[in-house]
Amino acid sequence: MKHVTHWIGGKPWTGEAERHGDIYDPATGQVTGAVDFASEAEVNAAVAAAAGALPAWRRTSLSKRSQVLFAFRELVRRHAGDLAELITAEHGKVASDAAGEVARGLEVVEFACGIPHLLKGGFSENVSTGVDSYSLRQPVGVVAGITPFNFPAMVPMWMFPIAIACGNTFVLKPSEKDPSASLLLARLWAEAGLPDGVFNVVHGDKAAVGALLAHPGIAAVSFVGSTPVARYVYQAGTGSGKRVQALGGAKNHMVVLPDADLDLAADAAVSAGFGSAGERCMAVSALVAVDPVGDQLVARIKDRTGKLTVGPGTDERSEMGPLVTRQHRDRVASYLDAGVEQGAVLAVDGRRHPVTGGDPGGFWLGPSVLDHVTPAMSCYTDEIFGPVLSVLRVPSYEAAVGLVNGSPYGNGVAIFTGDGGAARRFVSEAEIGMVGVNVPIPVPMAYYSFGGWKASLFGDTHVHGTEGVRFYTRGKVVTSRWPDRVPGTATVDLGFPVNS
Ligand code: NAD
Repeated sequence: MKHVTHWIGGKPWTGEAERHGDIYDPATGQVTGAVDFASEAEVNAAVAAAAGALPAWRRTSLSKRSQVLFAFRELVRRHAGDLAELITAEHGKVASDAAGEVARGLEVVEFACGIPHLLKGGFSENVSTGVDSYSLRQPVGVVAGITPFNFPAMVPMWMFPIAIACGNTFVLKPSEKDPSASLLLARLWAEAGLPDGVFNVVHGDKAAVGALLAHPGIAAVSFVGSTPVARYVYQAGTGSGKRVQALGGAKNHMVVLPDADLDLAADAAVSAGFGSAGERCMAVSALVAVDPVGDQLVARIKDRTGKLTVGPGTDERSEMGPLVTRQHRDRVASYLDAGVEQGAVLAVDGRRHPVTGGDPGGFWLGPSVLDHVTPAMSCYTDEIFGPVLSVLRVPSYEAAVGLVNGSPYGNGVAIFTGDGGAARRFVSEAEIGMVGVNVPIPVPMAYYSFGGWKASLFGDTHVHGTEGVRFYTRGKVVTSRWPDRVPGTATVDLGFPVNS
């Protein structure tokens, strides 16, 4: 049984935790370890370590900071397989998916390696006679990151490489369900030469989150998780004077117009609906078929789901792993019965899908499709966060856009069509943060910013890319005059400064 603890001030915490959480292997349903839950005292210790490291780190030159980032990048690359193994062991996703997660996180580290360029300010000579002006961006201070179970390495890496590159120090509170990847990342930071205290990890549940949100020493909070918790984090964090970006849940639509290549669309719907067992905030969960393509599309999707191999993430044959916990699997499966009770047609029942090479105790649920779903049904209104694809049929493009824009969420959306004009109109009209055209999961590259609209993001800034740099820095503008000692250039003037 493994024991996972906090990482404070450059080393593992050595105290005795009052509370613990179980860590499961979702492919067997067995408990494989315990994670310490932080109380207010451990949170205070982590924030104190981060605050202690801040003055020296923010003074550290950009060259030195980027050297540490380059070293960290090499170490994460070298240990990508180890990270992926930890993710599969605790989250359950298949090995290739876990490796993909590490690769996407690494792209943010690579973006952050360019911090000297990203932090360049502006300079204007002679804004007034003999006066120059320049702008700069400075770190905000100690930053907290609170992250979800579904990307235990990538989502933290959306945050801390940029925050640290900008000169901040960081306290990460990862998901208690799969806490081990964050500790390996902490060790790799130390090996890369990051000074003790710049990166800290506290494990735990809402008690740890509450202590971080209330702590006066934390200047900014990045959160990713479900919408109710995102809303709470935003309100509590801003209420105590912090800068907050809180990314929430999603209900992502994929609109298929009648002129679309239906094989391409079916491949995309199956990949984006069931990849990572649907436990992605950018997963497609509502397929909107514009008449008359519904029947043909559902037939193609049924054909493809039947061929998917569901099994342990460690088995090379598996394309889809288990869900993260038994409770979550049961909740997801309950939407199948609820959908049928509310009038949907269960076109594919994932409860009957064979599990290849899997332990019967694992948290299995195969790919499922509910057809003839209407907007009032709970399988459409709720974020299910599992391998359940709801198919809605609409008569027109306008009705499809109405459905997309009527959703309270605004994370991702995709349109499948061969008509460039329709796609262009859709890109403009969709009230959604990330849009794909014949691309089902439009996750932006690290140098663009990731984030949704409406109930999918509380706050003004998206994560990573240049918006990430803005979030983790404060702007300052300097106006300077150096008297050149020529007699008569200095006078007393009580008027408001005007430029001449
Ligand atoms: P979650 O909201 O349950 O947990 C997220 C974090 O908040 C965890 O660290 C958890 O310990 C903590 N937390 C949970 N309940 C809390 C509470 N009551 N008070 C304070 N803190 C609490 O989310 P999850 O189940 O870990 O992750 C899945 C959710 O995350 C889905 O809704 C998914 O859409 C969302 N998500 C969103 C994005 C995005 O970019 N918008 C990305 C990934 C996941």
